[in-house]
Amino acid sequence: MKFKDYNIKNEIKRALDEMGIQTPTDVQEKAIPKIFESDKTHIMAQAQTGTGKTLAFAIPIVEQLDPTLRNIQAVVLVPTRELCKQVYYVFRDLTKYRHLRSVEVYGGVSINRQIENIRAGAQIVIATPGRLIDLYKRKTVSFKNVRFVVLDEADRMLDMGFLPDVDYILFEAMKNVYPRLLLFSATMLKEVKDIAHDYSWDEDLVEIDVSHDDLTVGACKQFYYEIDNPRHKYNNFVSILQRENPQSCIVFVNTKRWGANLERRLKDDKRVQLRIGMLQGDMSQKQREITMKNFRKKKITCLIATDVAARGLDIPHVSHIFNYDLPVGNVENYVHRIGRTSRMERAGKAISLVESEEMNMIRRIELFVNKEIRKLYLRKEDREKDRSVHRYQPKFKPRAKSEIPEDEEYPESIADTSMYG
Ligand code: AMP
Repeated sequence: MKFKDYNIKNEIKRALDEMGIQTPTDVQEKAIPKIFESDKTHIMAQAQTGTGKTLAFAIPIVEQLDPTLRNIQAVVLVPTRELCKQVYYVFRDLTKYRHLRSVEVYGGVSINRQIENIRAGAQIVIATPGRLIDLYKRKTVSFKNVRFVVLDEADRMLDMGFLPDVDYILFEAMKNVYPRLLLFSATMLKEVKDIAHDYSWDEDLVEIDVSHDDLTVGACKQFYYEIDNPRHKYNNFVSILQRENPQSCIVFVNTKRWGANLERRLKDDKRVQLRIGMLQGDMSQKQREITMKNFRKKKITCLIATDVAARGLDIPHVSHIFNYDLPVGNVENYVHRIGRTSRMERAGKAISLVESEEMNMIRRIELFVNKEIRKLYLRKEDREKDRSVHRYQPKFKPRAKSEIPEDEEYPESIADTSMYG
């Protein structure tokens, strides 16, 4: 079905046509009818940038808002100024014939113009969380008539430490009226799902998955934790185990001595509920077979292994692979550990513990597998710290107007938008 066959207003069809958009993408095809279906449905969609997710929420919003009311009816939360502009342009183009006004608000620039802009009457506000809270506290923005709250790139928002801000906004927006939550995220980590569940009645929450495998090798999603002090590595690992609660996992170590040490500690640790086993190079074929049989039968649920010991093994279904040690020297070993487990369940995760001095190794692995390995945090403070780095060190220096070639639009060109994050 094409957009011209959708039951949407002609003004939107005309705008879409001018944008050169005729056929819905996967996420649009799945999300748009769901949003129209009931005004109680909340959406949690796993979709990355480039999948058309912006129009997936923009079309139903533009269809359903009331142009005769001059107050804010939709709030779109985005993690960065760059995305804010991008989403704003989509709304601007889409509302060309529909007389709805959108405004973009983000930090790092004067607030006064944004205040004037909102006061001039806008129905849609696209905002980074901090600046929106500022405007809300100044009473420039009210959530009284809000019918939609969109969380765009929710996982990135959490990565950047915006959870308290997002929480605050959702709570304020949802405490009187009951707007619909449309959440979009490239990954669906527990924290992201928690937000969706916290702010919607579960029975009204529709989950949509159109993710591409960008974060995977084979069928396995990859993450890492940075370990800033090697002496805390063991305890950090136990916290990660508690958080992940793996059904069945393999823990890779670099030497059998370290493996034996880890085995002993985990076995003695009351916090660890797993049944621990170890596979190491000195074992006879018979012993290995018994260990693997126990692992398959779930008599062992956490198997510690070295690369040598695990080589050539028929690895059964596991929910998690942990690199307690990153493979030394050789990037390919990483792929052997992760990639070989092709039978890993779809929901499988590979989690590496990376000591600060090994960070360049993670970058090399990312380059080698040509995938992003996403960073996770054990403590909120660390996420905050990274967030401040993200915020105040723009990757691209904004160019002065005089530096922009004449044939390039200003200020709408991307070059003008410094990227935070
Ligand atoms: P997004 O994932 O929302 O950032 O969109 C990625 C790009 O796909 C943008 O340049 C959109 O203009 C474009 N796009 C979105 N939906 C469609 C569609 N149905 N057909 C063609 N292009 C689209």
